[in-house]
Amino acid sequence: MPKWKFKSYLCSMQNNFEQFGFNKQVLNAIDEIGYTDPTLIQQKAIPPIINGQDVLGIAQTGTGKTAAYLLPIIKKLNFAQEQIPRAVILAPTRELAMQIEENTIKLCQFTDLRVGSVYGGLGSKLQKEMLAKGIDILIATPGRLLELYLEGDLVFKKLQVLVLDEADKMLDMGFISKINRILEVIPKKRQNLLFSATMSDKVETLVGNFLLFPTKVEVSLQATPATNVEQKVYLVPNLKSKINLLYHFLLDEETFQKVIVFCKTKTIADNVYHYVSRKFGEDNVKVIHANKGQNTRINSMEAFKEGKVRVLVGTDVASRGIDVTEVSHVINFDVPLIYEDYVHRIGRTGRAEKLGVSITFCNESEALHLLKIEKLIRQKIPVFPIPEGVIMAETSFNEKQAIARAIDEHKRKEDPTFKGSFHEKKFKRPSADEKKKQAKLKEQKEQKSGKAVAKSKTKNSNTDKTKNTPRKKGKNWDKKIK
Ligand code: AMP
Repeated sequence: MPKWKFKSYLCSMQNNFEQFGFNKQVLNAIDEIGYTDPTLIQQKAIPPIINGQDVLGIAQTGTGKTAAYLLPIIKKLNFAQEQIPRAVILAPTRELAMQIEENTIKLCQFTDLRVGSVYGGLGSKLQKEMLAKGIDILIATPGRLLELYLEGDLVFKKLQVLVLDEADKMLDMGFISKINRILEVIPKKRQNLLFSATMSDKVETLVGNFLLFPTKVEVSLQATPATNVEQKVYLVPNLKSKINLLYHFLLDEETFQKVIVFCKTKTIADNVYHYVSRKFGEDNVKVIHANKGQNTRINSMEAFKEGKVRVLVGTDVASRGIDVTEVSHVINFDVPLIYEDYVHRIGRTGRAEKLGVSITFCNESEALHLLKIEKLIRQKIPVFPIPEGVIMAETSFNEKQAIARAIDEHKRKEDPTFKGSFHEKKFKRPSADEKKKQAKLKEQKEQKSGKAVAKSKTKNSNTDKTKNTPRKKGKNWDKKIK
């Protein structure tokens, strides 16, 4: 691609969220979270929602549908006003309501908009207090919303936007009469948005009653990766082990000649970049993500294109459209959560009739997403054993907790009735006293085992089998995707 074309391509690509006319607060939040490009459903749904149309969105979890309706709502409401909600998002379960609330808070972090959620399963006192303080965006399950309305704690006079998220699940769970009752008591003049993973007869009837001349936007998770790409998966338990494995591959300069490493966040990309530049030299690696200035990104990309640097580390900003040929390997340091990004990512290799290799590092929580990707591309991606000598590190407390949370979150998305196997208690941080006790016990244990090791060392002084042993096979998660 000629240089001027390449530059204008990058210009058009990097401000992809700016095309929607979002204000600075929204753009800063998008940047802070690390979204670089709008997903397909966002590209399709955001413009009509901004135009004030009713929208029917057929999209599954994993497409970025939540931000697709939240971003225009935040743009519309702009700043805190009134005491009563101007946007209500209905969700089938309390878990989904909490997740949407979390997303909304992140996206509203640079605004003064007040966000809250109400759902059943616990007393309503705190929820009533929260409402009394004033609220702009309310996320709710239908039953609790109606209850609070009937008790006089909620007034809908100023409601401008109503969203039904996961409408198909709401109907499956028997919420139709509650939804109809809610529709009766809210202002008739409002914008309606309905999102559903599937389009059943029940959803169709609801669409007829709920939406006025809707614009239908649909994304089906369907994609086919290039056939000249060999795909591999390595099951790696944690970040440290991913780094070890990456290091192992990059040592083989002859095979890994031109490598793109994709990471899910800017922070991970920066950390990987610093590690690689420490180990292989600054001249060998560049990093690109949304925080890097335009010129830096252009220069990095061109240096990589021209073969001046061997490794390019980046977030998904680099995955779409850029025609860098002869990339020998794409390494997915993290499994992408937008499943189509997998196809975009691995499309960077195996271009122009060249055979390429895509390698995906996958931890226990990511394995669930990988199964979805396999379903999407209708292919099983073969799992390879960890190469001899690569050390699989212990997973830290914090990472264990994050992985357990991610697994629960994923399962909840799949099954709204899933209560979660992750309990805070299981991973509760020890108090200072408990820490002392644990340290003492550890010391005693170490003293004992020290003696034992000393004994066994004298017995087997020539063999240290603990060093460089490949990863021990853990629980069943790795078997599931094999
Ligand atoms: P959803 O389909 O709304 O459940 O979103 C699935 C995942 O994609 C969530 O983890 C979102 O934070 C993430 N996400 C949403 N929009 C984007 C985007 N434009 N770029 C990258 N990730 C996104």
